[in-house]
Amino acid sequence: LTQLFRPLDMLGMVYRTIRQGLIDMAEMFRLIDTQVEVADAPGAPALVVRQPSIVFDNVVFGYDPDRTILHGLSFEVSAGSRVAIVGPSGAGKSTIARLLFRFYDPLSGRILIDGQDIAQVTQASLRAVIGIVPQDSVLFNDTIGYNIAYGREGATAEDVAAAAKGASIADFIARLPQGLDTEVGERGLKLSGGEKQRVAIARTLVKNPPILLFDEATSALDTRTEQDILGTMRAVASHRTTLSIAHRLSTIADSDTILVLDQGRLAEQGSHADLLRRDGLYAEMWARQAAESDSFSEAAE
Ligand code: ATP
Repeated sequence: LTQLFRPLDMLGMVYRTIRQGLIDMAEMFRLIDTQVEVADAPGAPALVVRQPSIVFDNVVFGYDPDRTILHGLSFEVSAGSRVAIVGPSGAGKSTIARLLFRFYDPLSGRILIDGQDIAQVTQASLRAVIGIVPQDSVLFNDTIGYNIAYGREGATAEDVAAAAKGASIADFIARLPQGLDTEVGERGLKLSGGEKQRVAIARTLVKNPPILLFDEATSALDTRTEQDILGTMRAVASHRTTLSIAHRLSTIADSDTILVLDQGRLAEQGSHADLLRRDGLYAEMWARQAAESDSFSEAAE
């Protein structure tokens, strides 16, 4: 009889592995737009993170050999800090996120997490330490509870409840007649952009990663929802290292450090105040976005 069950066990394991893979793929929906091209080094150890620092050390990268996208990029994100990457469209912001997740390897240079070269550790251990909060989250056509528990294999009902609370969506769920068992998506309740975002935050909290990657979508939430979500994100970000890829500067102005990327090079870095004083690319982007939001509010009046 055990002989009959062993293959079934195997099947279960394979199924769980594939399912976990699908979760990560779904989370990476916006970031990944190509085949995974890297392999684990033979006998690669797992990444062990005590101090979740990130270092890009002279990273050169291009998707095609004849077109370099990142030209020897170096920067450091110290453990526990909040760092944002901004810059014009096409500057290479999402590329940095893809490299950090090791969907590609740099052509030269190294990327280190807590001093370990991410190309030398297993991909599974690398991806386990990074949680992504995309703003245009993909939810599965299933219950809210399932969508949150998805964050980690073996998450308990208590883990899900705690994550929902941490993401400030517990009260909303409690008001639904079927609570966590409410179906979302095509088969059930349609969630607003902000609610979806909170479910995605809860999903990431269940995973409890030491590094968070906030990937801001270009499509805007309304200002109030955005402010609410930002508050939740700040709470979630404390005690973690966070890297935010941002388009709207208002969402990241209070970061510890802002990296300003321009055509694959680090043009400026510093706090919001430093960068305004510098009166360079960031100051120019800030002035432009402020003017746009002024004309937006005038139009709304
Ligand atoms: P945005 O603010 O518009 O999202 P970004 O700063 O995130 O831009 P990236 O997506 O990192 O920019 O793209 C950097 C450059 O790399 C762009 O010129 C883009 O065309 C190119 N690029 C991105 N993905 C690929 C790919 N899969 N194959 C080839 N080139 C790519």
